[in-house]
This record gives sequence, C-alpha cells and structure tokens, in this order.
Amino acid sequence: MLSFTRFDELACDVLVIGGGVAGMMAAHEAHLTGARVMLLTKSTFPAGSSSMARRGYAAALGHGDSRDNPYEHWKDVVSGGYGINNQRLARIMTEEVVERTYTIDSWGLGLVKDEAGNYGQEFSPGEIYPRLLHCISGMGKPLMKILSTRVKELGIEVHNHAFLVDLLKDDSGNVVGAWGFKHREGKVIAIRAKSTVLCTGGAPQLHRINDSPPQVTGDGYAMGLRAGAELIDMEMIDYVLTTGWPKKMEGYGSNSHTFLAAGGQFLNRDGERFMKRYNPNAADGIFENGHRSLINRGIGTEIFEGQGTDHGCIYFDVRDAIDAAGEKGESISRAFRNAGVDLRKEPFEVCSCPHTFLGGLRIDEHGHTTLPGFYAGGEAAGGVHGSNRLAGAALADSFVFGSRAGRTAAREAKDKEAPAIPEGAEEEVRTSLKARDTASVGMSPETFRLALQENVYNNIGQVRSKERLLKGLSRLKELRQGARSVYLQSGTEPKHLKELIGVIETENLIDVASMIGTTALLRTESRGGHVRFDFPEQDDENWMVNITVFKGEKPGEVRTRIDAVVEEDFPSPVSLGNQAH
Ligand SMILES: Cc1cc2nc3c(=O)[nH]c(=O)nc-3n(C[C@H](O)[C@H](O)[C@H](O)COP(=O)(O)OP(=O)(O)OC[C@H]3O[C@@H](n4cnc5c(N)ncnc54)[C@H](O)[C@@H]3O)c2cc1C
Repeated sequence: MLSFTRFDELACDVLVIGGGVAGMMAAHEAHLTGARVMLLTKSTFPAGSSSMARRGYAAALGHGDSRDNPYEHWKDVVSGGYGINNQRLARIMTEEVVERTYTIDSWGLGLVKDEAGNYGQEFSPGEIYPRLLHCISGMGKPLMKILSTRVKELGIEVHNHAFLVDLLKDDSGNVVGAWGFKHREGKVIAIRAKSTVLCTGGAPQLHRINDSPPQVTGDGYAMGLRAGAELIDMEMIDYVLTTGWPKKMEGYGSNSHTFLAAGGQFLNRDGERFMKRYNPNAADGIFENGHRSLINRGIGTEIFEGQGTDHGCIYFDVRDAIDAAGEKGESISRAFRNAGVDLRKEPFEVCSCPHTFLGGLRIDEHGHTTLPGFYAGGEAAGGVHGSNRLAGAALADSFVFGSRAGRTAAREAKDKEAPAIPEGAEEEVRTSLKARDTASVGMSPETFRLALQENVYNNIGQVRSKERLLKGLSRLKELRQGARSVYLQSGTEPKHLKELIGVIETENLIDVASMIGTTALLRTESRGGHVRFDFPEQDDENWMVNITVFKGEKPGEVRTRIDAVVEEDFPSPVSLGNQAH
C-alpha cells in the first residue's frame, strides 16, 4: 500500500518527457534557446525505439544523385503516405533534415562518407533517388551515444526511472507540468513547468510479439487524450515482419529482408505459396519480394482468414535462400540453430508487428499541440507520414520536430510566470491511488497485459473488419472495468509501484487501442497501413481525409471528427530557377 501525502516537487521552464531521439533533440534546442530544461524518462537514459534504429535515415543531400533535393523528397513522402500526410509538416521535415544532418554529424555521428567527403546514400523503396544515410554498423547506438553525450555536456538535468502518469493543468486549461512516480525511490513526483514537451514514442507493446523496447507503451497518446488534446491518424500503423516462432526467437526481426531478397518463400498452413495471389506480377516470379505494406497485407490476410499456423503466424521457408543470402544468411541461421531450429531443414514462423505509429498528437509546424503550454515531437506526434512511412523517415521526423517543439516551448516559456501545482491535484492523485489499493485478489498485472494484447492481435490488429473491430472495442470496455481489480503486491513501496506502473501502462494501451479501433471502424476503406478486409479498396472520393480523435464525455469514450488534409504549395526548386546541386 502506497502512503502518499504530498508530491515531491521539481520545477523548470521546459519539461521534456522522453529520452529518445526526439526528447534529446527537444531538450538540446530548448536549452540553446535559453530555458532551464529538465528531461524525465521512465527507463534508463537514453532509451526508446530510437536505440533500435537499424538502417539509417533519409535526407535529400544530393550526394547519391545530384538531381535530388528536398522538393523531390517531399513528393516521395507525400505519395508514399497515400495522400493524407500533413503536407506542410512533410515539407518542413524534408527541408530541415538536411541542415540537421550536417549539425549532428559534426557532433561525431560517423555517417559513412567517401574520401572526397561525399555522404554514402542508399536507395529505399518508394524513393526515386538514393537518400538513406547510414553508419558502419547500425544507427541507433551511435546516435543515442552522441545525442546523450551532448545533453550531458550542456548540463541539462536528466531524471531517469521517472514514470510520468498525467499532465497537470491549471484553471485556464494551460498545461503546467506533469506528475508521476520515481518508483525506485518510492516517490510520487510533480514537475511544475512553464512548457511541457511530450516525446514518449509509439505504442508497440500493443502486441505481445514486437520488435521494440518494453518501455514504449503509448503513455503519451493516452496522457494527451485524457488531458483533452486532439490526436490524428491513430488508425495508421507501420507494421513489419518479425519472428513469431520458435518461442526463443520471438521478436527477432533481422531476417525477413535478407531472406526475401535471396528467394525465401511464405507458406500458409496448407503449404500454399500464397503471395502469388497478392503479388501476381512480381518480377522474376519472386512473389515475396514486394514492398512492406503489400507483404504485411498478404500475411495479415492469410492469418485473418484462418490460414495461419497454430501460433498465429505463417511459415517462412528459407531452405534454398540461406546460401544465396551469404554471410548474413549464415549468421541468422546460426542464431536459429542455437534456438533449436535448423533452417536448412525446416521453416520458421513470422507475423507482422507494429513498428512505427504514424498517428499521434496533432501538432502544427512549430510543435504546438491543441492545448496551451503543451508541445510534442517524434513518434508521439502525428501527421507527417500520412498512412504509410518511407524507410528512414521516422528518425528524420524526430530530429526535426523534436527540435522544433523544444525551441517553441522554450521561446514561449520566456514570457510566463512559474506555475504552481494546480489546486486539488494532490487530492485527486491521493484518491485515485487509494482506489487502486483496494484489490486484494484478481488478475495479475501480467495477465491483464496479456489479455489486452491478445484482444488487440485478434481484433484490432493489422487486418481489420467491422465485426472484429466491434468485438475488440467491446472487450476493451470489459478490460477497462477490470483494471481496478488487478491484484497488486503490497509489500515494499518500490515493488508495489513497479507493479502499479505496469497496470497504468496497460490502461494507457487500452486508451490507445480504443482510439485505433474507433478510427479504424470509421475508415471504411484500405489505405497504407490500414487494411480493412471488408473494404479492401482505397476510396479517394470519400477518405482522402484525416480522422481526428479526442476524449468524449463518459470515462473511456473517444470521439472523432473528419478533417481535410493540410495541403502545401511547395514550389519546385526548378520552377524557381534554383537548380539544386
Ligand atoms: C527495431 C526498430 C528499428 C528501427 N529502425 C529505424 C531506422 O533505421 N530508421 C528510422 O528512421 N526509424 C527507425 N525506427 C523507428 C524510429 O527508431 C522511431 O520512430 C524513433 O526513433 C522514435 O523516436 P522518439 O524519440 O519519438 O521515441 P522513442 O525513441 O521511442 O523514445 C521514447 C522515450 O519516451 C520515454 N517514455 C515513454 N513513456 C514515458 C512516460 N510515461 N514517462 C516518462 N518517459 C516515458 C521512453 O522511456 C523513451 O525514452 C526503428 C524502430 C524500431 C523499433
């Protein structure tokens, strides 16, 4: 049982929530704008999906092809998003990521360059010029290292293992900070801030099997919703393939790309090479070598129709692809051999998992959300990518809109008085914590999480239908009611708080799943990452729009609004007589 009387208070000009790329960029920029910044993150620092980034990121430097420029990049991003991107945000990203690249590389990122100093740039699907910048081995680790070093060198105050639960709002509706737990110290904290920047990443933990770190649980989307902010495009998720079986290899992701290019084949439970039906015109008869959303759609549909394996996956037969995949193929098959599967003799199993969330808090070009004093950037914000994102665009987005949100937050903090803790906030927290302490029997936090994940996978997952979405939404209501009867260990406070945090994360995931399910039900078409089994076609006449979601009157209720896409006139550099490169 947690005894709570008063918040442990902290105060700053700009509170940044999240220690991934977007959070670090926001903190950095807010500090340079003259603000006293505090960065709080629930895990170690730095961490987040950013640390897992593999390939690199896209910027139209024109080193791979001198015809490239931000305008060409913008056209690719907008057509890749199937027309519902916020075109202004997309323009800003493609323009500013160029300058960001030179700055970040000057801090020592180590992007690959040739002897003449030209950056190595690779092609990615959906892009007409090579743009992907990369390091020698992986992107996440070197990137996190240089950004966190920079944050520390600037003397920015960082608090890790600080889980924030909700935003604090004053009587006029301004966001004035947030409250949460430092569970290792058994403390309930409140941070008073003139501006609050949310960079809490996506919600990949909606699926039990996923390729992302455990701490990314959609908290920011749920916090924003509860505080009254608007979110957009929540039905749009970028799925990727990951290993679903053998159990020891669950979530292992670095196999599909290598083996697909080398001739690996997907088989359903009847042994049929089903991608023939989804990609009949594939070059050289390699039906499995299509773009990401096509492959995910094929696999998701087979599983949806009951043609999957007993583990809810499909088979990936790579027997004849290992040698063709060279050293990488050999190293992957070694990893599987260690887990007891000989890929030269038997297939393994793959499924799709949520990789990047394309929707999120609605922001404008400066990083303002729809609430005063509240800003967002990176994967926590939505709109840049529309219904599908191109490879390398997530980091580009986090660099640019993390920085912009931090800068705006710091500028606007300058004219504000230091806020007080809103009256009644402590009492509200005390009451809500007390209410949670009443359960003495019931589901464990782990069972609660698994029940939510199972519901999402089966009913609100990658391939959707009216029938399943309704079933999923109704189950979410039951789960929400069940939350208060999740049994928490009493015992010592840190242990209790850790379990409580797990339950709150699951409740946040329920909020996120409700937003996804509600918007997915409304959008009666298939577009990019949103696949409706009962509406398989893209319907531009009715659905070239964004769905905005916000909190309803009743607890847990979400409401929607349909908005026109934000268009942008981005004059071609050629039409301006300004030949790029
Ligand atoms: C396996 C993998 C590979 C990828 N590869 C690439 C790639 O090659 N190129 C590319 O462009 N993109 C890639 N992405 C996507 C990209 O990494 C992310 O979209 C991007 O890094 C998101 O950054 P972020 O800062 O917004 O969020 P994150 O990096 O996820 O950071 C979120 C932060 O918020 C903190 N947080 C969350 N909730 C709370 C809370 N309640 N209280 C306090 N702190 C909280 C977390 O601890 C974390 O520090 C990849 C993603 C994955 C999973």
